[in-house]
Amino acid sequence: MNIILLGPPGAGKGTQAKRLERDYGIPQLATGDMLRAAVASGSELGQQAKKVMDAGELMPDDLMVRMIEDRISQPDCQNGFILDGFPRTTAQAEALDQMLRKRGASLDHVIELKVEEESLVDRITGRYSCAKCGAGYHDRYQAPKVEGVCDYCGSTEFKRREDDNEETVRSRMQAYRDQTAPILPYYHEQGKLKQVDGMADIDEVTGQIKRILDGKA
Ligand code: ADP
Ligand code: AMP
Repeated sequence: MNIILLGPPGAGKGTQAKRLERDYGIPQLATGDMLRAAVASGSELGQQAKKVMDAGELMPDDLMVRMIEDRISQPDCQNGFILDGFPRTTAQAEALDQMLRKRGASLDHVIELKVEEESLVDRITGRYSCAKCGAGYHDRYQAPKVEGVCDYCGSTEFKRREDDNEETVRSRMQAYRDQTAPILPYYHEQGKLKQVDGMADIDEVTGQIKRILDGKA
């Protein structure tokens, strides 16, 4: 099953993708995570990515398309994948369709998480994650069961993203409105776009997505 989770920064894509990865056994492909790994490695790509991410802008399409093409060619994607953060432009969406067609594959579901814009800054500025396993948390909406201890791996170290500050968030939202939202009609015309209420609580959103994936919605 090949799935895209679409939605503005902070909509809950990563939170939901991790749950679907666990429950459906297909990997989350998060281009933002791949770029952050490149930044941490100090590679040339990482240096370029750091500047672009700090400015809340988007990386060049050709580079991102190559990154995803390499990734979906790997054996763990044989039974499908969950795209989180890609595609982000119409050019990326078209390139994705083309690369899937070349493989005799196609998209099964494009799921938009709809969240009111006022909630996004709040979600993003309160976001943090486990420094060891990457599990996502929020200061108010998703705290670990035991304060200061990761639910999944027991680590006591956490980190925050450098671009999760209010100023960068505004640019990221602008990029979403200008460059990413135009993809929605592209998928709507293909009859693939489904919407879920991303304002609901996390379990409820997971339930809505699963009903779509299981053909019950
Ligand atoms: P995205 O991957 O779309 O940028 P995340 O999944 O990282 O978004 O979610 C952003 C923040 O909002 C995280 O801290 C997460 O814990 C929190 N969050 C995610 N979904 C919800 C929800 N339905 N209600 C409240 N908070 C949420
Ligand atoms: P995310 O983790 O999805 O919020 O992405 C963080 C940042 O990485 C974005 O603000 C962009 O600068 C960059 N990025 C991630 N995915 C893409 C993509 N598909 N195309 C262009 N830039 C991207």
